This record gives sequence, C-alpha cells and structure tokens, in this order.
Amino acid sequence: MATRPNTPPPASDEDNVEDRIYASITTALLEGRLRPGAQLVERDLAAAFNCTRGALRKVLARLGFEGKLVLEANRGAFVPAPSEEDVRQVYRARQIVEAGIVTVLCGALSSQDRRVLKAHIASEKKALKEGRVDEQVRLAGHFHVLLTQIAGSAELQGFVAQLVAKTELYKALYDPSKGTTCSADEHAQLIAALDDGDLSAALEAMRAHLAELEERVVTRMQTSASDDPRAVFRG
Ligand SMILES: [Zn+2]
Repeated sequence: MATRPNTPPPASDEDNVEDRIYASITTALLEGRLRPGAQLVERDLAAAFNCTRGALRKVLARLGFEGKLVLEANRGAFVPAPSEEDVRQVYRARQIVEAGIVTVLCGALSSQDRRVLKAHIASEKKALKEGRVDEQVRLAGHFHVLLTQIAGSAELQGFVAQLVAKTELYKALYDPSKGTTCSADEHAQLIAALDDGDLSAALEAMRAHLAELEERVVTRMQTSASDDPRAVFRG
C-alpha cells in the first residue's frame, strides 16, 4: 500500500504528477472523449488535476510537441482539428514509408522477430477482448513501430512513431468506435505474407490495411460535419 510522506515531495513526485496528467489527457484523446478543436483551459485543468499551472503547462508543451494538441500563442491549447487533406497527407506518408519497411522485411524475419511479432499480436487481441480501448489502440499502432524497429532503422523508427501517433489521434477524434482500429487479424496476415517471402502479397496487405483505416477516418470526418451546431441550426 502506498504511503504519503510528510516531507515536501521530492522532484520525482512532481514528475509523477506530470506523468499522471499526461496519461489522463492522452487516454481521453485516444478514447475520443475530446472533440476536435475543443480548447483545454489551463485554469480548469489545473483545478481538475489539483496541480500547479506550471506542472500543467509542462504537460501541455509535451503534448503539443508530440502533435497531440495544438498550442497557439496567447490563445492556449486545443484538440487538433485536422482537415481531410491533413489526414490524407499523413496516411500517404505512412503508405510510402511502410511499403519500404515491408520490402526490407519480406522473407527476412528471424525466428526471434517472428516470436516478438506474434506475442505482440496476441497482446493486441487480449486488449480488444478485455475492452481496453486505449491500450488496444496503443498496441495496434506500436505494431507498426515494431516492424520499423525490426527493419533496423533507429532513425526511421522515431519518424514512424510520430506518423502512427498522428493517425491514432485522427482515428480517435473521428472514428472512436471500439474494435475498428488496426485489426490484429490483418497484422497476422501481413506477418504470414512476410514469412512466405511473398512481396506482392505483403505490400498489398499493408496497402489495403492502411487504406482501410484512412477511408474510415475520412468518411467519418465528412459525416461528422453535422456535429457542428452552426451547421445543424442553419436554415
Ligand atoms: Zn495496423
């Protein structure tokens, strides 16, 4: 059981507070509980988390750096509200980069790689079964980062992680329904094609997988336009 010391909190406690707030806001974003364009008011959040505005500002800065929030000078922090073109651009980048990763990995997975990937897919399925949405989204995205890692490019890994984080967020903002993230079965099909050394099947599996995610988000973006009260009440 955790006990609280009476002495002033050491620096690590402050870090813990920031980590906790960071995790709360990230979870809310990935579960689609924050609307695109919504403002996160510093004063309200500091009260909600019972923390200093300084601690909150650090967390908002980190989320802004990661692209999970948009920070506007003198205006504050906002949930991103990307345009359809923004979304398509990020998926296009993923298509190009991940086709390269598939090409490098095709027929080249070691037995250790295979074990790691299969264990990862098993944990994706487990999270889905247990209804842990944000964990499932995180694991599904991480599958793609893991492929990049296995492909052996540390440089690319950070870039793919950023692209994946953006698409995870787009999905959460516009298509927050459960179980419609990257599917573990599609990941398993991709691994099977890589294992068979069938490059055209592996490329097509990745292309179709990313295209399906993109279309679902874009379709939902188009239909969610009516969520705008001004559009609802106009005429
Ligand atoms: Zn996926």
